[in-house]
Amino acid sequence: MSRAVPPAVRERARSRSCPQCRAKPGEKCAPDRAGRSQLHRGRIRDAQQAMELPPYRILPPDEDRIFMELQPGEADTLVASWHKDVMDELAPYPYEAATLLRLALLQAEARTFDNFAVALCLMPLEFITRDEAVEAVERLIARGFVERVDPTHVSVNALALDIIERAVLPAQFRLEWNAAKARWPGPTPPTVQLTLM
Ligand SMILES: [Zn+2]
Repeated sequence: MSRAVPPAVRERARSRSCPQCRAKPGEKCAPDRAGRSQLHRGRIRDAQQAMELPPYRILPPDEDRIFMELQPGEADTLVASWHKDVMDELAPYPYEAATLLRLALLQAEARTFDNFAVALCLMPLEFITRDEAVEAVERLIARGFVERVDPTHVSVNALALDIIERAVLPAQFRLEWNAAKARWPGPTPPTVQLTLM
């Protein structure tokens, strides 16, 4: 027996995009194999999360960072440098992770990338509504990952996520990354060039 979802949460979920089947606000979720239409669990979780603002987070400055090269095949690629805590914290919040990355890329005027991980992170932006994107920015501000500059502009906290030149990466990381690429046994990752906005 599944736990009952409060009616207010169900209603809220129906008024939002579904991260699982991409149903639009007001639309039903895609029917399951038995042909029943139901609210997907991801949509309910998203609605529950939206009902309260996340807490402000003080980021320790010396924490490990996670690097995502925008164009792994290019020697002078730009690199998204994530604070590890930010990535961990946003893992259950794909709209916010996508919005934060998009803001950082726009801020750095980095519009071209061919790294599949970057594209995957940005994917929710293809189906969420404008209101949901605006809400994601508000939540990032509440967390302290984004700062409001004036009524229409925001700025990404560079400690949370920064777009840097590959040359500024720690040498140890560059060595490991090159070694990892040389050892990669799988298929060549897709090299489709993507352009942001
Ligand atoms: Zn759904």
